[in-house]
Amino acid sequence: MSDRALEQDESLLIRAARDFSRAELLERDRKWDRLDGSVTEILPKLAEMGMFNLMTPEDIGGLGCSYRTYSAILQEIAYASPSTAVTISVHNMVGLVVDRFADPSLRRTWLEHWGDSKNFGAFAISEANAGSDPGASLTKANRDGDNFVLSGEKMWITNGLTARWFVTLARTSPGEGKAGLSLLMVDGDSKGIDRTPIHGKMGIRGSETAVIAFDDVVVPASHLLGDEGAGLSASLTALDGGRIGIAAQAAGIARSCLDEMISYAHEREQFGTKIAGFPAIQKMIADSHVELAAATELIDYAAWSKDSGRGDWAASSKAKLYATEAANRIAYRAVQLHGGMGYVNECRVEQLFRDARITTIYEGTSEIQRVVIARELLKSS
Ligand SMILES: Cc1cc2nc3c(=O)[nH]c(=O)nc-3n(C[C@H](O)[C@H](O)[C@H](O)COP(=O)(O)OP(=O)(O)OC[C@H]3O[C@@H](n4cnc5c(N)ncnc54)[C@H](O)[C@@H]3O)c2cc1C
Repeated sequence: MSDRALEQDESLLIRAARDFSRAELLERDRKWDRLDGSVTEILPKLAEMGMFNLMTPEDIGGLGCSYRTYSAILQEIAYASPSTAVTISVHNMVGLVVDRFADPSLRRTWLEHWGDSKNFGAFAISEANAGSDPGASLTKANRDGDNFVLSGEKMWITNGLTARWFVTLARTSPGEGKAGLSLLMVDGDSKGIDRTPIHGKMGIRGSETAVIAFDDVVVPASHLLGDEGAGLSASLTALDGGRIGIAAQAAGIARSCLDEMISYAHEREQFGTKIAGFPAIQKMIADSHVELAAATELIDYAAWSKDSGRGDWAASSKAKLYATEAANRIAYRAVQLHGGMGYVNECRVEQLFRDARITTIYEGTSEIQRVVIARELLKSS
């Protein structure tokens, strides 16, 4: 993305993320993909780089990044490791929920240490029967004096095996539909929490994904995030910001694919000439470049919209929809351009093609983004 309007220190941060990601993440990400390993092996290193404190306000010790800087950093991280990008994105999104919705005294307690890898966060909304429709969540939190008692099962939880904190959507008032849902900050060290890894993912294999079972877990009532009964709207607010993170992840993957395409086009010869000379290859590269440029502009606009308080709700959805679908088209072309080499894991584009696939699914599928965008358009005309 263009960083012309960013402050100098923000540009330095983006450059540091670029250098770090290319030097420290690229090879590790390849290993995690092959061995089903996990980015959690380098959590302390990521914390040291400030990656867990990107969005935490400066007066509580965070880096206080704008969304524009944040999304640029995530693009740099995703370029080398899409798994690391989503890991960082989810943790920072959870921090933003705490910042906005936590009880003031707990907010400070939690955020003061948010940059520490021991306070790793996860966002637990989805359930087996509640994905695109989180309002159908069945996990319940019954009031018992000064506590809630939480029971139920969350599915697909990124960072779920190692997280200390789970921002969890639960039903606090049965029979009240969506208005009966609340958000709770659940301490992963509490009794009654069981974590089961989900193996066999198509891509982002370095990112943890888990089923989290809560069995009568005691959660202090003060851990309510926002008002009781307002959990669904708080979750959707968080996801609106999170979508910028996933769009950035997709753009990072797309840029990586494009660089691989250009490099291979210069290297590979057929019919006695470099394939870069073939118009069909040039079209793949040119189309990919333009789609990536459009994606980064949409991401930058969505980020600016948030930073400026303009609050264009559909901007994040537009950025996510376009960037993630473009990343999949670009990854498809990257495999095609590499021919048979693109089909084997030795070649990085094979992994990028698989990594790109999740981006149109999590934090709201493409179909759900279209619902959000169309709803806005139909409302205003
Ligand atoms: C690797 C991974 C990591 C994840 N991380 C997290 C996480 O950290 N926290 C978390 O809470 N969840 C997480 N998720 C869950 C993810 O957000 C959901 O998978 C996603 O929202 C889709 O829900 P679903 O899988 O139940 O699909 P469904 O909702 O069952 O959708 C099935 C199909 O129906 C379509 N559809 C559904 N409703 C509509 C509609 N109204 N209009 C048109 N089409 C529709 C969908 O687009 C999709 O094509 C993760 C998932 C994966 C795979």
